[in-house]
Amino acid sequence: NRQVLLASRPQGEPTPENFRLVEAEVPEPGPGQMVLRTIYLSLDPYMRGRMNAGPSYAPPVEVGAVMEGGTVCEVVASNLPQYRQGDLVLAGTGWQEYAISDGEGVRKIDPAHGPISYALGVLGMPGLTAYTGLLNIGLPKPGETLVVAAASGAVGSVVGQVAKIKGCRVIGIAGGERKCRHVEEELGFDACLDHRQPDLHGRLSDACPEGIDIYFENVGGAVFEAVMPLLNDFARVPVCGLIAYYNASGLPEGPNRVPQVMQAILVKRLTLRGFIVWDFAEQYPDFVSDMGGWLREGRVRYREDITEGLENAPRELIGLLKGENFGKKIIRVGSD
Ligand code: NDP
Repeated sequence: NRQVLLASRPQGEPTPENFRLVEAEVPEPGPGQMVLRTIYLSLDPYMRGRMNAGPSYAPPVEVGAVMEGGTVCEVVASNLPQYRQGDLVLAGTGWQEYAISDGEGVRKIDPAHGPISYALGVLGMPGLTAYTGLLNIGLPKPGETLVVAAASGAVGSVVGQVAKIKGCRVIGIAGGERKCRHVEEELGFDACLDHRQPDLHGRLSDACPEGIDIYFENVGGAVFEAVMPLLNDFARVPVCGLIAYYNASGLPEGPNRVPQVMQAILVKRLTLRGFIVWDFAEQYPDFVSDMGGWLREGRVRYREDITEGLENAPRELIGLLKGENFGKKIIRVGSD
């Protein structure tokens, strides 16, 4: 039973030394327990936050503990009446090949809904994040302009496509020409701008002649600064993620921009609202029904970026935080 542990807490960007691959016993199920074998492990930006000590919306992973993560697993042995050997489940068993579960937080996956790995992406946590953040906080109306960065990723790709379904004009922002082409040609956004090229603000201003009504905030940093002056009165900003800062070990150099941002919030009567996906957990049934339908009709398209082998998870998480993934990042841990 191979496991990846948090070996030490990173300072800034994580390194391979912050992780340790170890071999442990395959566990045996006690009464009221089952053993799960990992098929797919999801890699997500929030994992960087769990590597830090200190308070956040969820407790940190302890040094020496198995890294946390969402998984798709097969039940290999069960003393729980509701689960049988061979069942496929969505679980949170983390970066390891086998785990014990008492069934809490576990949900059966119906393979009829699509590839089982989708439960970690478009039909799971990132999809629900995009859907609920956009519909509850973004409040899209036909004809409005929406901007979203990390546009080829798990959350951004769904935000933009759902906003198109709701009648918005959608501008994506992504890193590199290949991702931008995919966002325009495959995902059907009206345009996609490369944030690595110069003068993002100028190009965004040209792409949004009527300003921005919804900015779905995934990244912060230079993208936020380019967007801020283009926000219209009464614009909505669902604050979903700030990946540009996740590896930061302190405040950036330069002037304090808080007064400027606060003034814009006041003068333009902006709504900025942070959210964590589980705030909207009760909307899961509506989400699965809508998203399942849109996938079947081809109105939402979805790209996965799958890497083989648990041993590659540290390298792939380090890369995800720098934009090296292209689509929803998944590790195939075992055969399906
Ligand atoms: P992605 O699949 O989009 O992967 C992360 C992407 O972020 C990278 O590929 C890269 O794309 C982009 N990125 C990284 N650094 C920067 C930067 N400095 N400036 C601009 N873009 C950058 O990840 P997810 O879709 O899973 O997550 C997207 C965001 O949503 C994250 O901030 C995440 O924390 C957040 N989130 C929040 C949740 C919540 O409950 N609030 C739940 C799930 C996710 P590119 O190469 O295009 O720049």
